[in-house]
Amino acid sequence: MTDTLDKPVLEDGGAPEGGAAPKRLFIKTYGCQMNVYDSERMADVLRPLGYAPTDTADGADFVILNTCHIREKAAEKVYSELGKLREMKERRAAAGQGGMTIAVAGCVAQAEGEEIMKRQPAVDLVVGPQAYHQLPELLTRTARARGERIGADFAPNEKFDALPATRGTEGVTAFLTVQEGCDKFCTFCVVPYTRGAEWSRPVAAVLDEARALADRGVREVTLLGQNVNAYDGEGPDGKPFTLARLAYALAEIPGLDRIRYTTSHPNDMSDDLIAAHGDLDALMPYLHLPVQAGSDRILRLMNRKHGRQKYFDLIDRIREARPDMAMAGDFIVGFPGETDRDFEDTMDLVRRVNYASAFSFMYSPRPGTPAATMAAQVPDAVAKERLHALQALLTEQQVAFNQSLAGRVLPVLFEKKGRHGAQAIGRSPYLQSVHVDDADQLIGRIVPVEIISGQQNSLSGRLIQTN
Ligand code: SF4
Repeated sequence: MTDTLDKPVLEDGGAPEGGAAPKRLFIKTYGCQMNVYDSERMADVLRPLGYAPTDTADGADFVILNTCHIREKAAEKVYSELGKLREMKERRAAAGQGGMTIAVAGCVAQAEGEEIMKRQPAVDLVVGPQAYHQLPELLTRTARARGERIGADFAPNEKFDALPATRGTEGVTAFLTVQEGCDKFCTFCVVPYTRGAEWSRPVAAVLDEARALADRGVREVTLLGQNVNAYDGEGPDGKPFTLARLAYALAEIPGLDRIRYTTSHPNDMSDDLIAAHGDLDALMPYLHLPVQAGSDRILRLMNRKHGRQKYFDLIDRIREARPDMAMAGDFIVGFPGETDRDFEDTMDLVRRVNYASAFSFMYSPRPGTPAATMAAQVPDAVAKERLHALQALLTEQQVAFNQSLAGRVLPVLFEKKGRHGAQAIGRSPYLQSVHVDDADQLIGRIVPVEIISGQQNSLSGRLIQTN
């Protein structure tokens, strides 16, 4: 999981029963969409306790940092944020405005929980990604004895069973976690150590949550998992469902018109999933399929367990099933031992695949991962230069793809109001933002839009029909 959403997740929440003033909850979310989902679910478990979201930590009764361990210096950023929170907490107490409970959640909590409690005494709770359903209980215990820590064990099944059936999600799109953990052990990645082994939610639980979302007006779900296409949740007959079978079942839910999933591993791109892209209209033609590097030698060092040719063959088969498939990827440049020749293989792969969008980063060592101690670490200056060249190519491809849609009519799901007048912003099937004037009455609907132009990060369009 590699894209970043370094912004707070806000939830609408109701006042607690009995009319008492709601307690203010601020959740700051770092990292991938799975953390965004987890933050939403934390707000859900805390809502019955009277916590309503606020958009700033200042004045909040409960602050949660939902952390990500994937980026360099992740823990340092958390400590720096905690330093600021500690000052706020002290100011609040000195002014007689009551306490502020501070929790650290997510993957940094999982990896460094003990250390966090030692280094920052202002932290009341540390809760790993598989234990946030216990937040209400932890809060109660913390009121009595500060310093309780929980969540080192991986038990995603217990977590999902304990979460409330209803979600506070508003809007027409939603994330839905269906799988957690990873058994792949890429040599640069901490996920197998922080999220545990691969585990899939049972089909019935996923369908129940999806139906509840559809009842609230959600038209598009993005199924989440660290290795989402390795999904093998238990079906109604006790046998595992593949992700493709799950997608067919979800497509039957009235009102749920669009299904996406992320993030996938090339080795789990099964035949039935590729075929589903050819015949299931609800499955959107946008696939995030990270490859990380284009050199077989580097792919071996990364322990990706596939080579470049296998990736090319997969892309060919996917595009045969769904010719307009927009491909997205992740890339790491400057992996230990990467030569100019290896990097040129990555550039060549990008030219051949032609991406609609991609995330690319300079390699940075994660403590505890095998790659962190590999010889031949690439100097920063070299890695920066390579990243610059790769990003220039990826941007060129993204712009070309967006511009190629000018003149086409695309079904757009309108999500929210735009900045100007009655402008509305929607989503194309290829996950681009589409800006359309005089369309704010269409939020929640899927409407044909003629694309006028494509920019780097969005499309502009006009309505050709409003009913
Ligand atoms: S497949 Fe590799 S990069 Fe992805 S979560 Fe697993 S170990 Fe990390």
